[in-house]
Amino acid sequence: ETVPLFEILENAAASYPDRQAIIFNNWSVSYKKLKRLVDLAAANLKKVGVKAGERVAIMLPNCPQTVISYWACLKIGAVVVMTNPLYMEKELLHHFNDSEAKTLITLNLLWKRVDALRSKLHLRRIFVTSIADCLNFPLNTLYTIKSRREYKLEPIPFDNSHVLPWKGLLKRATIEAPHPVDPVTDLAALQYTGGTTGVSKGVMLTHANLGYNAQQARAILHSIKDSGEVMLGLLPFFHIYGLTVCVNFGTLIGATLVPMAKFVPLDVLKTIHKKRPTIFPCAPSIFIALLQQKNLHKYDLSSVRYCISGSAPMPVPVMEKFNTLSNGANIIEGFGLTEASPITHLNPLRGNSKNGSIGLPFPDTDAAIVDMEVGSLPLPVGKIGELVIRGPQVMRGYWKRPDETASVLRNGWLYTGDIAYMDEEGYFFIVDRKKDLIITGGYNVYPREIDEVLHEHPAIKEAVSVGITHRTRGEIIKAYIVLHEGQTLTKAEIIAFCKEKLANFKVPKQVEFRDELPKSIVGKVLRRVIREEEDRKAH
Ligand code: ATP
Repeated sequence: ETVPLFEILENAAASYPDRQAIIFNNWSVSYKKLKRLVDLAAANLKKVGVKAGERVAIMLPNCPQTVISYWACLKIGAVVVMTNPLYMEKELLHHFNDSEAKTLITLNLLWKRVDALRSKLHLRRIFVTSIADCLNFPLNTLYTIKSRREYKLEPIPFDNSHVLPWKGLLKRATIEAPHPVDPVTDLAALQYTGGTTGVSKGVMLTHANLGYNAQQARAILHSIKDSGEVMLGLLPFFHIYGLTVCVNFGTLIGATLVPMAKFVPLDVLKTIHKKRPTIFPCAPSIFIALLQQKNLHKYDLSSVRYCISGSAPMPVPVMEKFNTLSNGANIIEGFGLTEASPITHLNPLRGNSKNGSIGLPFPDTDAAIVDMEVGSLPLPVGKIGELVIRGPQVMRGYWKRPDETASVLRNGWLYTGDIAYMDEEGYFFIVDRKKDLIITGGYNVYPREIDEVLHEHPAIKEAVSVGITHRTRGEIIKAYIVLHEGQTLTKAEIIAFCKEKLANFKVPKQVEFRDELPKSIVGKVLRRVIREEEDRKAH
């Protein structure tokens, strides 16, 4: 069904008016009350002049205001630009100016950062919410806070025209009908990609794109029996994965959302123990951190019916260990990208979930493997090539980047830039990213395979291998290694270790030790930054 996205909230409020929609620390709100707050916020946004089609940036950690602002924008036909509250100057400038957002909704704790940039931005109005606007919002639950001193609160210079208090959004107002959007053509979100492989691009997602993805998730994950799910909201809502799964899919099934503003492994365990979530969508790095908690067994995780893992490869040993410890709250791995709202694949909830696989294509989603050079050539079962996707969740294109759009949307297919294969039962497996492929001495080498071998070494904490330009051989493989504290290892020992486990052409020729690896804000290793450093050294 293609309906305006806002109908998801309207339906939940009509079907489960008294069910809790959000529980945040000791604050909670029913679906009926949430809808009321959203109606007020929508009316007030309109009153200050926000128009349909205009971009509104929401720069908040996971908290009730994020959810209220999101639905309010959708109601008036505005386009949300979810913005990472950890972004610093360069990223914020790109984000706000590229999206041409005129309105920003943010938090008093982030004010200094916004204020410092105001003269370079085209923002007409900034709504500032505060800790006190959301009852029991303890300062230390915010992951944007590095130290109390750094974010020492200064009074916000409210002026009733440019800088406005959040409370103004919840003022008494005349409630109007939702703006009549065309779900197929009108944008609901301009969602920026993670910027792992290049500059972060604005992905144009329509109401239908996002609505479909939530419905596709429901078709696979939700039983007809309405059991009153509780959704752990740990994934950031400013990222498409958290937005679609926690907020859109969660509301579609009338779940109670438990937002968490900061990731502290122990807090996650305590929250599961106390708030009894039934669904736990997450990312591999978080499961890894949870497994390192000493007293894991002391917490009762049995309320969780299933965990979802996506956004990066899930190491099979981590998955197996977590599944054993979690009382049957198995992890099901899926796959997605911002350009597809994001989910395209998921392992089945019941039935055959294959470890190491991203599962089967979502309902109404076609997936194929094509030749990496000849993109129009489909490849047979088992052959490695580029993963392409076709489905109702695929974006309209990149914002103001027609050339880049044309290079990824071809003949009705989305070229994902991921290298994958499909097995005889139709399950897909990701091999690597196309941009990370190393071509050395005429061989194709997938760095993920080398990284996995390096990770097996007990002294190695993190490792990443990269192809660096070489005068005669095209590229040579170089490994960058971070050792566990107190460990020593020589370059020769690392090379010898790889030689035991890898064909000779895959063994790194060079090794460099680092204290840490460059990572994106969501924790993906930035191979591109390493490659750029090497290029600079070479010139
Ligand atoms: P950019 O596109 O700007 O370089 P990004 O890749 O971080 O940034 P996202 O849309 O957040 O942008 O991430 C999508 C990518 O994440 C996919 O293309 C894929 O490479 C990776 N990914 C997602 N899920 C999985 C998974 N289960 N296994 C392996 N890789 C995954």
